Amino acid sequence: MMTTPKKYIGRFAPSPTGKLHFGSLVTALASYLRARSQAGKWLLRIEDVDTTRIEKGAIHSILATLENYGFQWDDEIIYQSKRSNIYQEYVEILKVKDLIYNCICTRREISKNKKNSLSGESIYSGKCRNFNNPSFLKHSQRIKTFETIISFHDLLRGDLTQNLAEDVGDFIIWRSENFASYQLAVVVDDHLQGITEVVRGSDLYFQTPRQIYLQRCLNFKTPIYAHIPVVMNEFGQKLSKQTKANPIIKENARSNLISALNYLGFDYGVQNIILETTKNNNEILEKAAMYYNLKNNK
Ligand SMILES: [Zn+2]
Repeated sequence: MMTTPKKYIGRFAPSPTGKLHFGSLVTALASYLRARSQAGKWLLRIEDVDTTRIEKGAIHSILATLENYGFQWDDEIIYQSKRSNIYQEYVEILKVKDLIYNCICTRREISKNKKNSLSGESIYSGKCRNFNNPSFLKHSQRIKTFETIISFHDLLRGDLTQNLAEDVGDFIIWRSENFASYQLAVVVDDHLQGITEVVRGSDLYFQTPRQIYLQRCLNFKTPIYAHIPVVMNEFGQKLSKQTKANPIIKENARSNLISALNYLGFDYGVQNIILETTKNNNEILEKAAMYYNLKNNK
């Protein structure tokens, strides 16, 4: 029997905590070029599930910047802030499987726990797992992880294996502020959008096993993952709003795109060909996709 190969579907999923900076441009560009080089779709998702962190005007600014830089997304943009009832349905499925419990630990308590030596994150001790904490107390909801061993192959960073109980602990799927955790939202959305490959910043590499675990609990397929190196500032910090990265502006689009191509491993010869044969930013992107090799960006 002939099976048609599954169409590539990639995505870019910015959080509107601020305007796009050079680091987010690199991530957007890598995922875009990868999708286009595979004749696939490139979807856009606004990860605004944590509404307390949204900066006013950031969504509009991000979309306008992407457009000015020549990005063309497929299908409708999805907004996590509007999908709470969808995420809730999946929590119910996990509840039926007896995988969820209420946790009343405070951030401060948890910050005193042992840390994972690779990610630096606090490991949850499982303290609340054996208590039936009533829902009227302010609580988050955690998923039981057991001694599950998760391994995956990253296209750029190689293999990673975690024992979830030892390396992470039971993790939050519903926050005490009453919205889905990043882990739950990203897993549900990648599934519902049919994402076949995730190209994103390496700051999320160590969170991937949690997402694969959730996919297994919910009977979702696991996409392929490729974590690209995050862009650092001169102090060795990841470019972000917290580290005061400058927003990228429309006027510098062409030179920023070239710097981003350079960061993604395009050599000068190819950069010159791209520049000499294109008239606008979208043409730069489409041309660059013809020369793009994900593996040049390690
Ligand atoms: Zn707890």
